[in-house]
Amino acid sequence: AKNDGRNNYKFFDPKMQEAIHERSSMESALRGAIEKNQLRLYCQPLVDHGGNLVGGEVLLRWFLNGEETPVMPNDFIPLAESSALILPIGDWVIEQALQYLKKWQMMEHARHLKLSINISARQFLQPSFVQNIKNLIERYRVDPKLIKLELTESSIIEKLEEVIPKMNELRQLGVEFALDDFGTGFSSLSYLKILPISQVKIDKSFVRDISTDVNDAAIVSAIVAICQSLKLEVVAEGVENQSQLQFLLEKGCYLYQGYLFGKPVPFNDFIA
Ligand code: C2E
Ligand code: CA
Ligand code: CA
Ligand code: CA
Repeated sequence: AKNDGRNNYKFFDPKMQEAIHERSSMESALRGAIEKNQLRLYCQPLVDHGGNLVGGEVLLRWFLNGEETPVMPNDFIPLAESSALILPIGDWVIEQALQYLKKWQMMEHARHLKLSINISARQFLQPSFVQNIKNLIERYRVDPKLIKLELTESSIIEKLEEVIPKMNELRQLGVEFALDDFGTGFSSLSYLKILPISQVKIDKSFVRDISTDVNDAAIVSAIVAICQSLKLEVVAEGVENQSQLQFLLEKGCYLYQGYLFGKPVPFNDFIA
């Protein structure tokens, strides 16, 4: 609270009050989203350089009060993460996702597909996280090798001594890890060696101008080269056109996700 000299404390700024109100009403709406069945999983394809579908990434959508256009995750995941709502939401996402993965496993043409699931650091750091995944794998009888958990580098760096043993425990089951949004944080290439990951996802902000911006091109080339020498899979996110694809191919990046290959669609429409 700061006095602006006329006895009007900044804290009582109506705009700010409005913002606080908006935040808390959004929070209570989000709290009801699971019960009201307003959350939906979408899925976006991952393809290789031969154009083959190799898997999909689960992306959350929130359909508020019968609206046709969903609230996008960037508009509610940060709020969920700061309010602990990410825990029930994250649990719901994993359980739904493994049910869909089970369906894939029962389809001849989809049984090889891997499913990537975004995991918030707060969710991953829950003491029950590993056991919860184990229980779900048993309940839905899914092959753990088809599960890929995506963690962002910036979110786990401060907790590496907690995170790495948990990753290893899950890896023993066959679950794999991807490092998401690579290049965005204050990332150090040395993490690529320390973390028990099998895949790195280059953030779409580097891919966007890859064919025109020499700095982005240099960063992407360097990431691809280091992943190759460390024997890590590397996925380019946000591939939208042929010239981006051409550049990536030339650099030796052979896995892609982006509108060029397919937008996220409701999970049930994915295989069709
Ligand atoms: P992300 O994990 O980096 O996911 C990729 C985002 O890029 C998705 O945005 C996807 O729709 C978008 N995208 C894919 N291809 C293209 C493209 O060619 N061009 C452009 N411009 N965008 C593309 P989306 O679905 O809005 O998700 C945003 C972020 O929200 C995700 O980024 C992820 O960090 C988070 N998120 C989504 N679902 C979940 C979830 O279930 N749990 C958690 N914890 N986070 C989630
Ligand atoms: Ca992701
Ligand atoms: Ca990403
Ligand atoms: Ca992201």
